Amino acid sequence: MALKLMGVPIHDVDFAATVTWIDRWIAEGGAHTIATVNTEFLMGARKDSTFRAALQRAALCVPDSVGVLWAAKYKGHPLRERVAGSDLVPQLAQVAAQRGWRIFLLGAAPGVAEKAAAILTVRNPGLQVAGCYAGSPSPDEAAEIVARIRASAADIIFVAYGAPKQDLWLDKYLSQTGAAVGIGIGGAFDFIAGVSQRAPVWIQRLGLEWLHRLITQPWRWRRQLALPHFVALVLLGRDDIG
Ligand code: UDP
Repeated sequence: MALKLMGVPIHDVDFAATVTWIDRWIAEGGAHTIATVNTEFLMGARKDSTFRAALQRAALCVPDSVGVLWAAKYKGHPLRERVAGSDLVPQLAQVAAQRGWRIFLLGAAPGVAEKAAAILTVRNPGLQVAGCYAGSPSPDEAAEIVARIRASAADIIFVAYGAPKQDLWLDKYLSQTGAAVGIGIGGAFDFIAGVSQRAPVWIQRLGLEWLHRLITQPWRWRRQLALPHFVALVLLGRDDIG
């Protein structure tokens, strides 16, 4: 039986398996959303049935955080590895350059996606950037964004609007863009462009990226209370909803 946390399925995929799915979906066509699920997503989905339903419809919910890995293990469903949105963008850019996939970078503050794309192109010669656009998750802008992506003939869209906006956007509009795969990736462009600082790898390995983020972005403290709250609910067996 597949693992569900707060009614959200979590798929036991590692990076290689994620690439295999993407490869297949780009060959087949259609619209497939990938959600990079962390504890903030799960605590949001617990309260918000619209967000929960969007995540349930996603083709793949990958485990983005150590909190999700811990809960899976605690519940007897150990997962292969953390597949973080912040890692997916640089890693998939490398695969995209090799396979000729066209990527579109949507979201973040104006200019950030362009800067991230320029850096990714230098690191991965031959990378085909179909387009970059900050835009906004507001429904008023959706038609224009969809038209831009459609005209770009992108295969993969990375969407940086934060959760739940990026995932709701993909749930609603990905199928109109012509792209086979859409991935919500949070602050990944900010990290690549150097707008914000990712935790050093040794801190990530210790499972303390959340602590680094709390120290470097202290205004997020209220949102990060999701982690201890989530742990308490899992320990109490109150994660089984929807
Ligand atoms: N963002 C945006 N438009 C919005 C809200 C957010 O472009 O209306 C961008 C923001 O600039 C950042 C990313 O979305 O690049 C969200 O980053 P965050 O680190 O907050 O991601 P989360 O942890 O929420 O997934």
